[in-house]
Amino acid sequence: METVYLNGTFLPSAEALISPNDRGFLFADGVYEVMRWYEKGFLAAQLHQNRLKRSLHEIRLYSAEADKFLSIAGELISRNNLEGQQALVYIQITRGTAPRTHQFPLPPVTPTCYAFARAINPEQNESILGVNVGLVNDIRWSRCDIKSIALLPNILAYQEAVEKGFHENLFVRNGVITEATHSNIFYVRNGKVLTHPESVYILSGITRKLVIDLCCKLNIPVEERAISSDELPYVEEAFLTSTSAEVLPVTHLEGVPIGSGLAGPVTSQLQIAFREMVEREIQTV
Ligand code: PMP
Repeated sequence: METVYLNGTFLPSAEALISPNDRGFLFADGVYEVMRWYEKGFLAAQLHQNRLKRSLHEIRLYSAEADKFLSIAGELISRNNLEGQQALVYIQITRGTAPRTHQFPLPPVTPTCYAFARAINPEQNESILGVNVGLVNDIRWSRCDIKSIALLPNILAYQEAVEKGFHENLFVRNGVITEATHSNIFYVRNGKVLTHPESVYILSGITRKLVIDLCCKLNIPVEERAISSDELPYVEEAFLTSTSAEVLPVTHLEGVPIGSGLAGPVTSQLQIAFREMVEREIQTV
């Protein structure tokens, strides 16, 4: 059975019990982080830990568990026999268990920390052939930079994508594409790689940052500039980035080809460079 981590203890998932008065359950009052395990090590572990700490800071939640994230993650990989496999580690920290009231618990209670690791099977075909995406109204709050567990707008937008046969939906706020429901979006136009600048309207993706760094190393010009949904049909290439999907070509918008309708040359170059970077950079535990 799967071994998970809950509040300082590693235990079988069936024994990991959380109170219904947990503020994560009642209010989605918490944050999370997801990190990728590549057979023998984690990618960008420090960046994920830093983002977790930042998310906690932004919601004014202080938990010593964030300092232990890397050791908890490594322990979950070994206890679940995931060495030699591809996996994701998920960690969630909430403001703890207390009688339901909007204000922070007084006196403060210990935050709840839950983490698990799970094997993944990356989809090879999609990363070669590319995916079809849709557009949806961005109804989220104005702090999308916080990796909050309150994901209802993302869930509704993604469910709509699934029901329409799209791989992802791109959020559009005031005519501008911000990001996708669980990934960042990049474009190639006139030889330049474009992506929405860091702001409160997107999650600052770790993969987004790694890809921008790769572009700089490869002398591919990058501009952190948002594009409007009207500009999308005119881009030469588009791709999504995320911890689980790495660099994923977007070849169609609502069934209409983007550029050639195939994974573009810049996207393919970045996919190869990303794989090479993974080989170089993974941090063995
Ligand atoms: N944006 C959103 C809304 C996300 O949920 C995610 C994935 N968690 C991303 C972007 C991509 O971030 P990362 O590259 O750190 O996985």
